[in-house]
Amino acid sequence: MDIARFRVQPGTDVDLEDWPTDDDGGLDKDDIEDRLDDLNDELEELQELLFAEGKQKVLVVIQAIDTGGKDGTIRHVFDGVNPSGVRVAAFKKPTDEELAHDYLWRVHAHTPRSGEITIFNRSHYEDVLVVRVHDLVPAQRWSKRYRHIREFEKMLTDEGTTIIKLFLHINKDEQRQRLQDRIDQPHKNWKFSFGDLAERAHWDDYQEAFCVMLQETSTDAAPWYVIPSDRKWYRNLVISEIIVQTLRNLDMAWPAPEEGIAGTVVD
Ligand code: AMP
Ligand code: MG
Repeated sequence: MDIARFRVQPGTDVDLEDWPTDDDGGLDKDDIEDRLDDLNDELEELQELLFAEGKQKVLVVIQAIDTGGKDGTIRHVFDGVNPSGVRVAAFKKPTDEELAHDYLWRVHAHTPRSGEITIFNRSHYEDVLVVRVHDLVPAQRWSKRYRHIREFEKMLTDEGTTIIKLFLHINKDEQRQRLQDRIDQPHKNWKFSFGDLAERAHWDDYQEAFCVMLQETSTDAAPWYVIPSDRKWYRNLVISEIIVQTLRNLDMAWPAPEEGIAGTVVD
């Protein structure tokens, strides 16, 4: 799969209306199951190699509007991957302690260690999304954050972290259906809050904030990918491809065995 077509070219204007939400790549859900299994097996192997080598760090940042599919993506794409080498950090409304610090403080503490993959379920980007939409800090403060974020991520990549940023793109009617499901299906009720409807009323403001985020912070070092996410199976396929292809390119090697290991017999 050519993943470049999902990448936001640094320095280009982004209008999300030009980016499809319901793309299926001309594929059929039933035709890609083997492909998904193969990608999942390869991800398991690459993660083991990353861990064994213990040198590089991988950060996967996932952002989306409510119901965009962040949790489902993590569940499916990382299914079967050794949990010892993968961490998920979910960023909720900041605590008083977190708010008393700069906005990157809580985020930096969760960046990956050597050999580790860390997935951010929401991230520092909330500080230019929900914060911007609801004026949680003055514009003169949040407007400087795009530059901070570019520089923060550059520092991380300079220090050996590979960053993959995924924006899950759904359309407004898809969100309506997913929210309705959360109301109508008892086992999904726990995911619903009336606050979600209040947020939905700000749909256009969020789309605007996402566009600015994508164009201001997609860099060569840490590119954004816009993932068509109305169809969950296609979303999972594209994301698996992006992660596997990126890990393949890391040029990793198994650590050299201890000297004299060949021919050693255990008694
Ligand atoms: P959920 O992911 O559905 O559990 O919701 C987490 C909530 O925390 C969302 O409403 C986010 O907008 C909110 N949140 C995350 N980070 C921030 C932040 N930096 N400032 C304000 N709200 C945030
Ligand atoms: Mg929620």
